[in-house]
Amino acid sequence: MRILIAEDNPLNQKIIMAYLKSDEHEIVLAVNGKIAFEQFQVDSFDCILMDLHMPGMDGFEATKAIRETEKGATIPIIAVTASAPYEDKQKCFDAGMNDFLQKPIRHSDLKHIVSNVESGEYRNSMNHESNK
Ligand SMILES: [Mg+2]
Repeated sequence: MRILIAEDNPLNQKIIMAYLKSDEHEIVLAVNGKIAFEQFQVDSFDCILMDLHMPGMDGFEATKAIRETEKGATIPIIAVTASAPYEDKQKCFDAGMNDFLQKPIRHSDLKHIVSNVESGEYRNSMNHESNK
């Protein structure tokens, strides 16, 4: 798969890229939400892994911006954060994200998310549609 990663922390970038590369995915890295949004518009991806807290445009804003575009209506967007899930989960769904990946990222969790993307699970669930 071709995956866009929006993540500002160098250590987290390194970990997530190592996992995805070992599973033979293609990766494009964006170091903040604005760059992720711009990259999304000029390229094509199977899913986006979106850090919530980034300088400038954060993960919530970037997701909303992507959802407002025609090509961004259905792409799976997975929130990545160190917050406790219950704190940010509803906010993630409200912003248009499909699922939630907890930091520190475990390879098994990441594989599970990727397999959900591959099986089309998020395209069918369309969480963001029900929250409009
Ligand atoms: Mg961050």
